[in-house]
Amino acid sequence: MIETSEKLFEQAQKSIPGGVNSPARAFNSVGGSPVFFEKAEGSILTDVDGNEYIDYVGSWGPMILGHSYEPVIEAVQETAAKSTSFGAPTEIEIKVAELVKKMVPNVDKIRMVNSGTEACMSAIRVARGYTGRDKVIKFEGNYHGHADSFLINAGSGALTLGQPSSPGVTKGTAKDTLTANFNDLHSVKKILNENEGEVAALVVEPVAGNMGCIPPKKGFLDGLRELCDAHDVVLIFDEVMTGFRIAQGGAQQRYGVDADLVTYGKIIGAGLPVGAFGGRQEIMDVVSPVGPVYQAGTLSGNPLAMAAGYALLSELHTNPHHYDELEEKTTYLFAGLKDVFQNHDVPVSINRVGSMISVFFTEEEVVDFETANTTDQELFKKYFHAMLENGVYLPPSPFEALFLANSLTEELLDKTIEAADKSIQKALA
Ligand code: PLP
Repeated sequence: MIETSEKLFEQAQKSIPGGVNSPARAFNSVGGSPVFFEKAEGSILTDVDGNEYIDYVGSWGPMILGHSYEPVIEAVQETAAKSTSFGAPTEIEIKVAELVKKMVPNVDKIRMVNSGTEACMSAIRVARGYTGRDKVIKFEGNYHGHADSFLINAGSGALTLGQPSSPGVTKGTAKDTLTANFNDLHSVKKILNENEGEVAALVVEPVAGNMGCIPPKKGFLDGLRELCDAHDVVLIFDEVMTGFRIAQGGAQQRYGVDADLVTYGKIIGAGLPVGAFGGRQEIMDVVSPVGPVYQAGTLSGNPLAMAAGYALLSELHTNPHHYDELEEKTTYLFAGLKDVFQNHDVPVSINRVGSMISVFFTEEEVVDFETANTTDQELFKKYFHAMLENGVYLPPSPFEALFLANSLTEELLDKTIEAADKSIQKALA
């Protein structure tokens, strides 16, 4: 029963657009009423009706060690007692910056912002200011937040010129965003050759997470690095999802490829609103007040957010065993789910990188936006709702990655696999 959730959803729609403060929370892709939550501990969510769920959303990434992680809660409480914001420098900002530099060796300087969107938006402004060029290349199916420059789809046919994907984004903005195919270096080469001397930055999710989890093919990220070097383009890794998740040093460390600028969000704020962008000193020195590229924020580097992020990052830095354990747990889930779907003769393609995993109901190997779209969305809807009934909270869309937390126990993973077995049976019936 989700009676109270349903009531709250009805009430919410009267004062909040669509009843939610971010569309990914609405159940538009799966139908039905979103669940309203009351509290969470570790990997267990409790909704407003008292139902419990095993959590695979993890607030879309930050909860890598589970909810209500004690050092984070204590840090927030202690800091809040002193003030929630000064709008002036605090020591904790330096501590976070220095810790990030230890975890990500090629970050010389880092600037805190309030969301992943702001981080990505600022990173491309910096790249434009640094290069004196206007155009940026992004990949179809990658998501970098909701700044105008990113709400662009690939143009039709041979056109690489983007089209606004949302009303309110101007054609003028769209013309400066060029769209390539993920895992396809030829498409990038073509755009760079056609726009020689005009491209400021190439931005990529090094492991795509916003069309489901899609790993980079061998050589893809190295290839991007080489192409950016050859064309003097700033390579930006959007590590809002992958940063501090798939390794301490994120995708840069995992794949051994250095970007020029990196953007962060999610884990760096431990569930509080934080984003960040950082990179090589030479590029970061164009940022105001050192350089001319304007970037600012009343609440940037907010003490509560910094204290929370510092507590979480410190634990990940001092105890890297978390990454090995997450890897083991995700491999275990991968194997369990694969067996379940095979036993029910359901064609699946399961992608996994570190503690990110996605199940696509398709026979195709999922390597890009086009292949991701071959997933059986109707089957996903039924599977999603059956999983919810069986006490497992999945991202409410077939094109999202699951984020595992190290608070998942073997018992919870086994329960999840059992739930998947029952749920796919129901979905197929
Ligand atoms: N970049 C990536 C890769 C993301 O996954 C997201 C959000 O999910 C963003 C940027 C935007 O971050 P935010 O929602 O904090 O603005």
